[in-house]
Amino acid sequence: MTLVRAIFFLASILLVAGTSMAAKPTIDSASIDDLIKQAGTEIVTAPEKASDTLSRLAGLKENFTEAQKNRFFLLRAATLGFKGMHKERVELVQSVIEQIHEPLYKIRFLSQLSSGFTNLGEYEKALEAMNQSMLILPKLTNIEAKVDTLQAAINVLNSLHAYDEALVYADRMLALATASESSATHCLALGDQVEINFLRGERQRARAVLPDAIRVCDAANKNFYSLLLNTLACIDLIDSGNYLQGKGAAITLLQDFSKLNQSSDYGTQLQEALARAYLHTGNLEQAERYGLQAYQKAKAGNAIQLMEKTAETMASIKRAQGQYLNSLEYFETALVLKNRVLDDLLHKNLAFQRVKFDTQDKANQLNLLEQKNKILAVERELEKKNNQNLVLLIALVLVIVFVLGIWLMRALQQKNQFRQFSQTDGLTQAANRMHFISFANEAFKMRTGSVSVILFDMDLFKNINDTHGHGTGDWVLKAVSETVKTHLRKVDLFGRLGGEEFGICMPDSSQASALQLAERCRMAIAMIDTEPSGHIFSLSASFGVATVDGNGLSNFDETLEAADKALYRSKAEGRNCVNVFRQAS
Ligand code: GH3
Ligand code: MG
Ligand code: MG
Repeated sequence: MTLVRAIFFLASILLVAGTSMAAKPTIDSASIDDLIKQAGTEIVTAPEKASDTLSRLAGLKENFTEAQKNRFFLLRAATLGFKGMHKERVELVQSVIEQIHEPLYKIRFLSQLSSGFTNLGEYEKALEAMNQSMLILPKLTNIEAKVDTLQAAINVLNSLHAYDEALVYADRMLALATASESSATHCLALGDQVEINFLRGERQRARAVLPDAIRVCDAANKNFYSLLLNTLACIDLIDSGNYLQGKGAAITLLQDFSKLNQSSDYGTQLQEALARAYLHTGNLEQAERYGLQAYQKAKAGNAIQLMEKTAETMASIKRAQGQYLNSLEYFETALVLKNRVLDDLLHKNLAFQRVKFDTQDKANQLNLLEQKNKILAVERELEKKNNQNLVLLIALVLVIVFVLGIWLMRALQQKNQFRQFSQTDGLTQAANRMHFISFANEAFKMRTGSVSVILFDMDLFKNINDTHGHGTGDWVLKAVSETVKTHLRKVDLFGRLGGEEFGICMPDSSQASALQLAERCRMAIAMIDTEPSGHIFSLSASFGVATVDGNGLSNFDETLEAADKALYRSKAEGRNCVNVFRQAS
C-alpha cells in the first residue's frame, strides 16, 4: 500500500503546487507549469512518458521560477524512485535541499530523502530525515501537506517495523481528519490503522476498524484505498483458514486490480494468498499459476520479504505436486531469503533504536538546555527587577531627601524670617528694644575686654511732628537709622529703644572709640538733608556714652543707666552734643 500511496501523495503535491504557484503570467512560465503538471500526472499513469516530459523541462531550466525549480527536482526525485535509482534520487535531493527553506517544499524533499534512504537500507539516515520533517510539521498550515508528511513518516516506520510509532502518527492523522472534516484524510488515517494493526499481528484490532475504514473510503470515492482494504480483509480470511470464501473474494479483487491498472505489493500478496487458498482446496494447477505469478512479481520488485513468502508457498505447492526437487529448491531459496529478511530486520531494529535513543538524548539535552535557559531567564528577570527596585528606591530616597531639603530650607528661611521679624523694628529696620537688650546682655556676659553703649535721643522731635506732621517724623526716624548704620562696625548692634531714642552696643570697644563713633553719628545726623521729606528743617540728636572697663560699671543695666545719665547731661547742656559717663561725675 505504501508505494501506491506515495504516488498519490506526489500527484497531490504537484496539483496543489501547480495551482498555487502558477503566479507568473508569462507564456513561458505558464507553459512550464503545464509541463510540470503533465509530468505529475504521467508519473502515476505512465512513468516512461514522465521521463521524456522531464527531459523537455530540463531544457527550460533557465526560465524556472524558484517554485518551478523545486517542483521539477521533486518530480525528478520521484521518477528516480520509481525506477529504483535510489542512490541518484538521494544525491539529487541532497544537492538541493540545503537551499530550500519554504517549509512546504522542504518537507517534501525530506520525504523523498527519507524514502530514498529506506530503499537503500540506510535506515538511520531515513529516520533522521523523517525526524527533521516532523520538526517542520507544526510550521505547515496546509492540512493536505501535513497529512502527506505524516503518511511519509508512517511509510518509513512501517518499513522499519516500528509499528507502535507508526500508529502514533496514524492517530495524529486521524485527529487532523476530525479537525478538517476531510473524508479523504479520514480514509487514509483509518486505512493506516487497519494496515499497521495487520502488520503488527493485531488482527482483532484491524478487523474492528476495517468496516469503518472501507465505508469512509467508499464515501470519499477513494476506490483504490477501498480495494487495498478489501485486499487486506481477503488475505486475512485466507490466513485464518476461510479458503473458499477468501478464494472467491480474491478472484474478484484481482480483477479490480487489473482494471485500475495499479501496481501494488498488495496485488502480489493477494496472488500469493490465492495460491495458498487453491493449494488448501486441492486445485494445485491454479495454486501454481498464482504462486508463480506472485513469486516472479516479487522478484522483479526486489521485495525480499514477499519473495521469501512466495518462495515458501511455491515450495509447499511443489511438494503437494510431488515435485520434491523443485520444492527443495524453492525451500532453499526461501531459507536464504529468510536469513536476509532477518538480517535486514535486525539492521532496521538497530537503526531505529539508535536514532530513537539519539533523538531522545537530543530531546533530553534540549530539555536540559531549555530548563537552564529558563532558570537563567528567571534569574536575569529577577536581577533586572532587583536593579529596577534599587533604582526606584534610590530615586525615592533622592526625592525624599530633595523634598525634605526644600522643606528644611523653607522652614529655616521661615524661622529666620520670623526671628528677624521678631527682632526688628518695623519702621527703622533697627533691632527692637527687646532684642537689643538681650544682645547687649549677652555681649556683656561674654566680654573679654571693654564694652560700650551709646544712647541718643532726637532733639525736640515733638516740634518736628507738630510742625511737619507725623509722617515727616517717621521719615526722620528712618533717615537717622540709615545714616547711623553706615558708620557701624559689623559687630556693633544698632537698636531703637523707644520713640525717638536709639542705642548702639559696641563689643570690644574702648570709651575713646565709642566717643569717636558718637561724635561721627551726631555730625552725620546734623548733616542729613531733609529736603526729600518735603520740608527743610534742621536735625540733631543728643548722645550719652558709657563704657564697662573698670570704671565701676559691671553689667549692662548699670551701663545703660549710665549712658542715659550722660545723655541727660547732653540734653541739659543744650542738646546736639555728646557726653561720656564718668564715675567721678
Ligand atoms: P527733647 O529734645 O527734650 O527730647 O524734646 P522732644 O520733643 O524730642 O521730647 P518729647 O519727649 O517731649 O517728645 C517726643 C515726641 O516724639 C513725642 C512723640 O509724639 C514723638 N514720637 C514718639 N514716637 C514716634 C514715632 O514713632 N513717630 C513720630 N512721628 N513721632 C514719635
Ligand atoms: Mg525722648
Ligand atoms: Mg527727644
